Amino acid sequence: MPASPVIVIGAGLAGASFVSELRGLGHQGEIILIGDEGRPPYDRPPLSKAYLLSGDAAPLALALPHLDHCEQILDDPAVEVDAAARRVTLKSGRRLDYATLVFATGAAAKPPPPLGLAAPVLSLRTQDDADALRARLLAGGHLGIIGGGIIGLEVAATARTLGLEVTVIEAADRLLSRNASPALARFLFEAHSGKGVTFHFGGMGAASGEEISLADGARLRPDTVLWATGANPNDGLARAAGIECDHGILVDELGRTSAAGVFAIGDVARLKSAAGGGPSRHETWTAARDHAANAARLLMDPSFRPDSTAFYFWTDQYEHKIHVIGAPMAKENVIQTGKSPDSFAIYHVEDGILAGVSLVNNPRLLGPAKRAIARRPRVDPAQLSSPAFDLRAVLQPA
Ligand SMILES: Cc1cc2nc3c(=O)[nH]c(=O)nc-3n(C[C@H](O)[C@H](O)[C@H](O)COP(=O)(O)OP(=O)(O)OC[C@H]3O[C@@H](n4cnc5c(N)ncnc54)[C@H](O)[C@@H]3O)c2cc1C
Repeated sequence: MPASPVIVIGAGLAGASFVSELRGLGHQGEIILIGDEGRPPYDRPPLSKAYLLSGDAAPLALALPHLDHCEQILDDPAVEVDAAARRVTLKSGRRLDYATLVFATGAAAKPPPPLGLAAPVLSLRTQDDADALRARLLAGGHLGIIGGGIIGLEVAATARTLGLEVTVIEAADRLLSRNASPALARFLFEAHSGKGVTFHFGGMGAASGEEISLADGARLRPDTVLWATGANPNDGLARAAGIECDHGILVDELGRTSAAGVFAIGDVARLKSAAGGGPSRHETWTAARDHAANAARLLMDPSFRPDSTAFYFWTDQYEHKIHVIGAPMAKENVIQTGKSPDSFAIYHVEDGILAGVSLVNNPRLLGPAKRAIARRPRVDPAQLSSPAFDLRAVLQPA
């Protein structure tokens, strides 16, 4: 049993999942969940998809067992942590002593610089952000999206579905340059272009009044701008408490920070040394859930050691369901076509090892792909493109 009270800062997916897991494992002691959004924990992925499209809040519900078996303070953010005294101070001045502290403070959308544009410049991270964006989308007109990453593209799909004119401006020379292979980026570029989205690469130049001028010489007059250039981890509180941070709160593979009794999970946590690479921070739904479950298990059983899980995210854009597992930026990408041009797998191979798989409208391979990537099997790239290649074969014992 962890020493109590257990205080969790951040009532998002990671924080709420941690409370649910810890109670589910039988922890009886005091748990306090501290949030700052003034609403119960909710799920973020629908904010750019179903919720933005319909305004129906049902998909945001996080149905986690045992969540109400803790004290929830949802509108009084933590403003200071004293790691030596093991004390958290809230904005109201209330002080809470802890035996175990979990940072689950997530990340915040990178704020737009002052652009001097007449049109509103919005970002998307919270339900309030989604409400503000949806109100603009319902007014119609032209949406300019700065950033051709996952959130930018998901909003582009939703806005096109709602009938807006949509332009995406990406600073790099292709979409998703940080977390998807060129082949997947090309597929999404074509899917969006086919739906009428316009793209400009190379970034933006000056913006003022009604107009944004782009690096490629084009000029735009958007009615609304979405600034979607990524997110910054909310690690300021931990940094001020002297806890080791570097673009995220640094943790070991058990989620432990540099301070005794203090853990970090979800989008804010940055693994000090990921297998085969440097520090890594995963801003994905599944990582937040896994971190939460692992931290809870470790607190209940100090001998618990989590299995290493591969990077994984999904994205839904129009009718397309995309799953990315493992390392999508490996050197070699082999496409295995499926039953239709819109359904295929991309195998990512690094030095003869199957390091990642991206699935386009191919969900039946998700389970085998996750299991295969966990094993990092040696593969012959020449065989992967064959329609006869069966991913399940690499799961068979040699
Ligand atoms: C629009 C959108 C769409 C997404 N779609 C997908 C998807 O399709 N697939 C996928 O895999 N992932 C997706 N994600 C990512 C996924 O939602 C995140 O990885 C997940 O929400 C991370 O959970 P978290 O609890 O770590 O952080 P968060 O969800 O950010 O929660 C952290 C909470 O802590 C609060 N907080 C911060 N500081 C304090 C403080 N000092 N005191 C109290 N509270 C504080 C924050 O306000 C927030 O409520 C999406 C994210 C967004 C924003």
